[in-house]
Amino acid sequence: MTLTPLELTRPASVTDAFLRELVARVPGGETWELTEVYTGEKLVGLPQSTPDDIERAFAVAREAQRKWAATPLKQRLAVFKRAHALFVDNARNVADLIQVESGKNRRMAIEETCDPPMVMSHYLRRAGKLLAPVKRGGPVPLVTSATEIRQPKGVVGIIAPWNFPFATGISDAIPALMAGNAVVLKPDNKTALSPLYGIRLLEEAGLPEGLFQVVCGEGPDVGPTLIDQADYVMFTGSTATGRVIGERAGRNLIGCCLELGGKNPMLVLEDADLEETVRGAIFGAFGNTGQICMHIERIYLPESRYEEFKQAFVAATEALDVRAAYDFGPDMGSLVSPDHMHRVKSHVDDAIARGATVLTGGKPRPDLGPAFFEPTILEGVTKDMVCGVTETFGPVVALHKYRTVDEAVALANDTDYGLNASVWSRDVAGARAVAARLESGNVNINDILATAFAAKSTPSGGVKSSGVGARHGDQGLLKYTDGKNLAVLKKQVMGARPGQSYEKYVEGMLSGLKLMRRLRIR
Ligand code: NAD
Repeated sequence: MTLTPLELTRPASVTDAFLRELVARVPGGETWELTEVYTGEKLVGLPQSTPDDIERAFAVAREAQRKWAATPLKQRLAVFKRAHALFVDNARNVADLIQVESGKNRRMAIEETCDPPMVMSHYLRRAGKLLAPVKRGGPVPLVTSATEIRQPKGVVGIIAPWNFPFATGISDAIPALMAGNAVVLKPDNKTALSPLYGIRLLEEAGLPEGLFQVVCGEGPDVGPTLIDQADYVMFTGSTATGRVIGERAGRNLIGCCLELGGKNPMLVLEDADLEETVRGAIFGAFGNTGQICMHIERIYLPESRYEEFKQAFVAATEALDVRAAYDFGPDMGSLVSPDHMHRVKSHVDDAIARGATVLTGGKPRPDLGPAFFEPTILEGVTKDMVCGVTETFGPVVALHKYRTVDEAVALANDTDYGLNASVWSRDVAGARAVAARLESGNVNINDILATAFAAKSTPSGGVKSSGVGARHGDQGLLKYTDGKNLAVLKKQVMGARPGQSYEKYVEGMLSGLKLMRRLRIR
């Protein structure tokens, strides 16, 4: 659907031939029309994979995985050392693809390109230690031992969303591959290009062909076969889809990690710095056009600071440069698609119909592009409104007043979600005490989300309906492995000796247990 004849020149790196080459690795016949978000113009036909295509992709991946798992870890990691440099050197080309397929502004696109290199750097430092066998004590000192051995799961299925297609498609695959797995990725149809380019860069760095497969299609068409073939599923997306994925993985008795939605609160404490808080709120509400899982949809302000913050926040929002451009100019870009724009609009319309006030924004901007929506601030949002309880996932944020910190904490926790929260105060110790009371997998003090998300050595995931498991940290790699308990008994010492009564044996065994406790052997 071509809606706006914008006079916009597509980035020079995004040629038709290059796009056709990228999608050529996706198995499937019938194609889906992948469009440039800013203009609605067709970019390329994306093959749609059938169940047979998906089974074949898994068979190829499984074959490649056996050789890869037998490759010494040092050699496997060397691929990612080379890939790190390639990813950084090609960041601008990656950002071009991210922008054409998602419509986000260039500042966010280039930031997204940095995520896989950061994940590579972290696990290049950590993987050797995490994957090395660990010798543990056995039940009887000296004559027994047990060793914990980490083995790859096999073929990991990754299902990724459109909001950070490169980061979720590639970054989550890196620890899986380092651990010796193969990967079959299903990106969102709308945003398959940047992950396909990422895989090409990994192969240029030496990743064996066949090890990283891509299948494409609508989620409900591809999902069942993908989950049935996989040994583990890494899913990022909405809470509703997460439940479907988790149910199927559970039935198949395979593990899964579910990184889901949020309705994230920002708590501004009495002593917060106004300028910094407003700058934070602008990014929290409108960064990536409000399409970040950890972004802010609810802001809680002390009554005494409400008017001051509201005025400054509305003024800063109205000053934002919102438009389509492939340069670093705009503060905010487009939503991902006209469909998503209509969903965001329906949340705002519903809030207005039920009595909310629009302080600024509130409308689509077809003059800027087919999926543009104004940065929007609402007041008077209540829990009988859709956006009072459900994730909107757009540039829409609601302001709320609180009287006491206890009330602010209760309001922040009054949600099914628990992905991210942000607390602002000059008193970091006081903010930490508030953070401790928030039901959230991530809490950022004096930041919105970047500090927590960029801390790759700390696990990051959601609680409540925001997810199961985490990415990053040791568990971000170990989840892609099974532990094997290799136990050795050097000499048979358990059980009664010949001629010894069982009573005597039990007496000796029980005092042995006490002795081991005293000596802290077990
Ligand atoms: P979505 O759940 O609709 O889709 C996500 C992916 O799942 C897509 O690839 C889609 O094709 C696929 N899918 C859809 N239905 C499926 C099914 N039945 N079986 C298998 N796969 C299926 O989510 P979305 O709208 O694309 O993404 C936005 C959501 O993702 C938001 O809720 C956002 O908060 C969440 N998100 C969470 C994180 C996180 O780390 N917690 C990160 C990014 C996005």
